[in-house]
Amino acid sequence: MSYVLGLRCRECGREYPKDVLFVCEYCFGSLEVVYDYAKIKKIMTKKEISKRPYNLWRYRELLPLDKEPTSGLHSGFTPLVRAHNLADYLGVKEIYIKDDSVSHPTLSFKDRVVAVALSKAKEFGFNTVACASTGNLANSVSAQSALCGLRSFIFIPADLEMAKIVSTLVYGASVVAVEGNYDEVNRLCTEIASRYRWAFVNINIRPYYAEGSKTFGFEIAEQLGWRLPQNIVVPVAGGSLISKIWKAFQELYKLGFVDKPRTKVYAAQAEGCSPVVTAIKENSEIIKPVKPKTIAKSLAIGNPADGYYAVSTVKESRGSGENVSDEEIVEAIQILAKTEGIFTETAGGVTLAATKKLIENKIIPKDESIVVSITGNGLKTQDAVIPKLKKPWRIKPSLESFIENLKIHEE
Ligand SMILES: [Zn+2]
Repeated sequence: MSYVLGLRCRECGREYPKDVLFVCEYCFGSLEVVYDYAKIKKIMTKKEISKRPYNLWRYRELLPLDKEPTSGLHSGFTPLVRAHNLADYLGVKEIYIKDDSVSHPTLSFKDRVVAVALSKAKEFGFNTVACASTGNLANSVSAQSALCGLRSFIFIPADLEMAKIVSTLVYGASVVAVEGNYDEVNRLCTEIASRYRWAFVNINIRPYYAEGSKTFGFEIAEQLGWRLPQNIVVPVAGGSLISKIWKAFQELYKLGFVDKPRTKVYAAQAEGCSPVVTAIKENSEIIKPVKPKTIAKSLAIGNPADGYYAVSTVKESRGSGENVSDEEIVEAIQILAKTEGIFTETAGGVTLAATKKLIENKIIPKDESIVVSITGNGLKTQDAVIPKLKKPWRIKPSLESFIENLKIHEE
């Protein structure tokens, strides 16, 4: 049973059938999935959802499949952690970590979009999937296509972190390291997509893929008892996640599940790659592409595909944006680890560091509820923190040696 009416251009509103399409032929605007909300409202109730398995398909009527899902049956429904220690540290009343660093199966929020993309690719009859990736997407496409029996080609910038390359190769994908940055990889993939009949998850089936990000927002609302937070901070790379969380909140409102969204949405980027935050701060709708230079490689997209929508989401929600230095990123990774026992990757460091700045600058009020979107796992970007960590004590295998060292280290 499908609730998808078709696709619609986000710019000129022209309608298209639900096919392998991603760009408007008339204005080159990007296409978005349109649903029959009246029909969904009759079927999808809070009670009905509560009976379903704890995975991202519990919101299936709001996802763009016509048939049963075939991927991501154990993805989604990651913890929403009430972070008391972090709240004390930051001096705020109510703060939560939406923790996709423990997403199944590849420890990032990309498992959500890939679950939807691969299920849809199979519906369309593709046998090969591909992606341009800064790492996390590579991991997830490779893992989930192995499970689904799809052939996969993964295109990455050649200078990616080793952990992200290893955890792509291990699943058997063909990994192509391109001598260039992400924007160059993406441009090449667009050319390849027009030559071969492959499903590039974030290019030619992007409208479907991007819908998976909404589940991050649906879960936050459900986990808060069908309530929306007053503030949410979201990392921005391509700009899709932030606008889809906002879309998720609007859809839940349309279905009568939550009050009218008054959540302020904040964009977080690294100083070395902040085209979206720069536009927000300059109050401009034009995204000026940049050449990324940051340790937050998963956010190193200098020409974000959905940058415009990221900016308009922030504006519409009366939120704001903040960018942070590499030093602040590493510090924030350690703050989250030491206060909440959560080890996030550099992108998570960006999000928390930006949250901290927004609170310090009194942009986010201390007495309002705040959700920090943690989208990836620290095991993948260990190099960023290693220089800042203490070394283990090295001792002889004797009690004397331990006691001696204990004295030295306790002093
Ligand atoms: Zn158009």
